[in-house]
Amino acid sequence: MDKKLKVLYIEDNQYNLLLVKKILEANNYQFFEAKTGLEGIEKAKEISPDLILMDINLPDFSGLDVTTKIRSISNFETVKIIAITAEVGEGGREKALAAGCDGFIPKPIDSTFLKKIEQFLSGKNERLEKETEVKYLRQYSRELMDKLLIKYEELEKTNQELENTLRVIQEVNQKLILLNKMEENFVAISSHELRTPVVVVKGFIDLISDGAFGELNPKLAEIIKVLQININRLIKTIEDITNFANLKDGSSSTILTEVNIVDFVKEIFDSFATKFAERKISAHFESHVINPIVTIETTLFSQAINNLIANAIKYTQDLGNISVGVVEEATQIKIYVRDSGIGIEKQFLERIFDKFFTIQDSSHYFSGEYEFMAGGKGLGLSIVKNIARIHQGNVWAESEGKNMGSTFYFTIPKDLKRKLEQKTSIITSEKKIYVIGWKDALEYINYDIYDVEMMSIPDFVLKCDALEPSSLIILYIAEIGEDIIYDIVGRVKTNDKLKMVPMMVIDKNLNNHIKAKLYTLGVEQYLTEPIDKEKFNSTFQIFVV
Ligand code: ADP
Repeated sequence: MDKKLKVLYIEDNQYNLLLVKKILEANNYQFFEAKTGLEGIEKAKEISPDLILMDINLPDFSGLDVTTKIRSISNFETVKIIAITAEVGEGGREKALAAGCDGFIPKPIDSTFLKKIEQFLSGKNERLEKETEVKYLRQYSRELMDKLLIKYEELEKTNQELENTLRVIQEVNQKLILLNKMEENFVAISSHELRTPVVVVKGFIDLISDGAFGELNPKLAEIIKVLQININRLIKTIEDITNFANLKDGSSSTILTEVNIVDFVKEIFDSFATKFAERKISAHFESHVINPIVTIETTLFSQAINNLIANAIKYTQDLGNISVGVVEEATQIKIYVRDSGIGIEKQFLERIFDKFFTIQDSSHYFSGEYEFMAGGKGLGLSIVKNIARIHQGNVWAESEGKNMGSTFYFTIPKDLKRKLEQKTSIITSEKKIYVIGWKDALEYINYDIYDVEMMSIPDFVLKCDALEPSSLIILYIAEIGEDIIYDIVGRVKTNDKLKMVPMMVIDKNLNNHIKAKLYTLGVEQYLTEPIDKEKFNSTFQIFVV
């Protein structure tokens, strides 16, 4: 034989495959195999065999179905197909021939096998009488129809199951959305409920520390100091949680300002100079920017950069390196904060931006804000992520792994202003604030964001019963009698609608006795003029949720 004839055997039984392979290859045939009907059809198309041996009982389709399919492919109308089966029951041979097989070899495969094959190859064709063929064709198509119906029912069932699964997934999804919402509400409510008592406790501790209740002995002074550190830490935590809840539910108020981004970031970087020095960290600032003017929400933006630099300090050992840079790219400004610190393993690079996620066990954290490993509650980066989102930018971390340092990137689009011009503002929400008394203290309140209602003391007295609850009540007084102050506070704190509204009292100077009394009456915050802007803002932020 010049050219080896190709034989394809479609059979799921390994033993039969091996046996036929052995016989055929020993006799100069090229042997191919397929273990399922579908594989057989593909293989046949691929190799164009001279002969196909077809097992009738295949795992997916019956050999007869496969034969019918192969016969329908052009170029395969005349290829020799021989059915091989142990099933020699009634009409087995006839059905195979009716389905398009040219012959039939019953199993088991024995010494006559090769001879039979050769006969078929040299022209033998088993044919059915026309009448018999029609009879078996009919029977075969009935069987096909039955199989189709079964398959159809199976598909229907699968479809139904898929629909049920889909419904379950949708329900679970709904529940998750609800849980997420509940969690957000929980965070918002708990931070709201926490801050009032904490600020009051802080007020008392500050008073004690100032000697309002008499001289402190050294032991007590030390205890008070520890209390002050911890209460400040707690307030910072509540601030973070409040900020996070605000950013998350979109109720945080924002105004956009055009800034020189290099100067802006550099100023934040410079504000860390003493922290860098305390931790003996060598810090560098660099910038590669030609067009530095961008539009940002300055408060939020500075919070994001602050968090990133604070983290770099916290997670870098003494004597380490930190560099902060601003780079201009085609469509965005990229800020990076790189440190030589403890690094981040690959699997945590994305998760650290999830809320409340910390890599280290937080019970092992050191106290203090900027000490090495002075970790927090895992909110800082999720706040940064939300701030990036609000600026239509992005934030991500890169690190080669443990102890290899980390780099955080924060990007904002250069044309944020234009992008946002389509929307009037990123987020708007009116927060109502009542100011009773003098208005000159209020240069720090942003009138564009907050809905501020001023009223004189007599005005307030006249209309307080009709006032709706607000986010904050500021009583700004100057040199008025003690009794009037108590009277106003009393009117707020005994009014059903107003008593839950946080109250801030600002005055030129009140003696410690009055301050203590105000706290006892339920005032949440007391500030003395001249007002420390930072203190005012942080208190304000805590109250105006
Ligand atoms: P935390 O208040 O714990 O610092 P963050 O959300 O700011 O919360 O950070 C989440 C976690 O990401 C941290 O607990 C820390 O494990 C990891 N992380 C953040 N910044 C760095 C950094 N610069 N180097 C190494 N790990 C960091």
